Amino acid sequence: MITKSRNEMSFERLKYYRHLGGGALECIASRLSKTPKPLCFSLMVTSKCNCNCDFCFWKHKKENEDMSTDEIVRLLTEAGQIGYLDSILWGGEPLLRQDFDQICKASHDAGLYTKIATNGWFLETNPDFAKYTDLMFVSLDAIGKAHDDIRHLPGICDKVMSGIEYHKVHSPKMRIYVCCTVSAKTEFEQIKEVAQYCKEADILLYFTVNKSNQTLEEAQNVKETELEASQLSEIFVKIKDLKKQGYPIRNSYYFMDYIIAKKNYYECHWPRIATVIYSNGEMLRCYDREPFISVKNRPLKEVIKDPLFIETVNKCKDCKLACVGNYALDASGLWKLEWPAIKSLMEIAIT
Ligand code: SF4
Ligand code: SF4
Repeated sequence: MITKSRNEMSFERLKYYRHLGGGALECIASRLSKTPKPLCFSLMVTSKCNCNCDFCFWKHKKENEDMSTDEIVRLLTEAGQIGYLDSILWGGEPLLRQDFDQICKASHDAGLYTKIATNGWFLETNPDFAKYTDLMFVSLDAIGKAHDDIRHLPGICDKVMSGIEYHKVHSPKMRIYVCCTVSAKTEFEQIKEVAQYCKEADILLYFTVNKSNQTLEEAQNVKETELEASQLSEIFVKIKDLKKQGYPIRNSYYFMDYIIAKKNYYECHWPRIATVIYSNGEMLRCYDREPFISVKNRPLKEVIKDPLFIETVNKCKDCKLACVGNYALDASGLWKLEWPAIKSLMEIAIT
């Protein structure tokens, strides 16, 4: 008997297309204006975490006070009203918040395509978020003890795998991605095991590459786990090959070819596309992670019209850091209407 893949086209997935198509149109509209009209609402809901990963960007920012449920619900509701298309809710570990289901509900009710990123430890003990979540990223960098060691949390690999099985049964409409960090902590063979696991579990896989802000003292831990450009290139040649062989890898060819070619600069437009808010309500300039404006006790609509916000995000195109750790590269290619980026993202959309 042929079993239907949970990733096959369905009515529910049309929302994903609306999200991608809307994103492209918003990018074009925003390009024509000097006033940024961001479409992705990225919210760190807590800085606290039960892991202690060597490559954590946020290791040194865990003591801030997180925003209240009411404050977060207000922000998400406003984000929907302003016209943001999607949200990504992350941490720290977001499932440490016992109100996380309410937060996801607020995002869902605001009409945002709701994504979350989790280390997977609490997937079965705090599962209700999934009723309101369209897509979840779960971290898994290797299989078994190797992953536990990277995350400094014994047993987390087993929790991730049983949590994924739980949500495959109980949350059939939620898209499930494994997010695998490529760093000096893993060999290609371990990465391949993760790809094999995703294929067999019928879930999707996204590779992220940690790249530190070179001017930051506090990012030394990230720097120490970074691979050299030539090592990354070698690994991504093999990852690209796995994708061609049919492993469920969702990184775009645009992204992979950039890394394979060992490029180290692109004009970044990410802050014009995504608004990133830290757990205490401050927006951080992404290139030095310094707070520059706060959304706490202030309407979001007012904040994104503030000249300081507009000036700060418009400066991003001069940033030389060339992050490849998130969707900044793909989104910037789309922003510039570069055909390889459009083609690559279209391929992801239809597969
Ligand atoms: S799971 Fe994420 S937030 Fe937590 S320590 Fe690891 S990288 Fe940092
Ligand atoms: S490259 Fe883009 S995402 Fe990275 S720090 Fe610079 S502006 Fe921000």
